[in-house]
Amino acid sequence: MIKFICDDNLGKLAKWLRTLGNDTLFFDPIEDGELVSKTLKEDRVLLSRDTQLSRFNLKLGEKLLLIESEKPLEQLKQVVRHFELKTAKEQIFSRCLICNQLLENIEKEKIKDRLYSYVYQTQDNFKRCPQCDRLFWSATHVEKMIKMLSECGII
Ligand SMILES: [Zn+2]
Repeated sequence: MIKFICDDNLGKLAKWLRTLGNDTLFFDPIEDGELVSKTLKEDRVLLSRDTQLSRFNLKLGEKLLLIESEKPLEQLKQVVRHFELKTAKEQIFSRCLICNQLLENIEKEKIKDRLYSYVYQTQDNFKRCPQCDRLFWSATHVEKMIKMLSECGII
């Protein structure tokens, strides 16, 4: 699977890529030199709107994709088309949107104290981020995001 790194202007794109389960780094701020060295060291693809980065083109070659649109969903479409990314259903929301870690399933009895009783009563599948300890479960905002992705033809 392709791993990505977004420049510091592409925070929303980074979140969308994580939503689809893609390993995506994002640091804000980050210097161009560091961005390039992380890209090469970790064998990632650098996504950037900064045409100045073309000066690193010799080093980066295929590892740089210049993003055209200012709109996050259009940016996501460009990346999905360019790399022909296929997203399996189980990949969606498999990764923490904040820290890029893969989420773990957690039994709801173990986190009962942390849930609103409405959520406890209506939801069965919970995931937890091993790094930041945030809990995730399917909710209306998740359904909305999935609807947006499918309307754009991304999933
Ligand atoms: Zn996290």
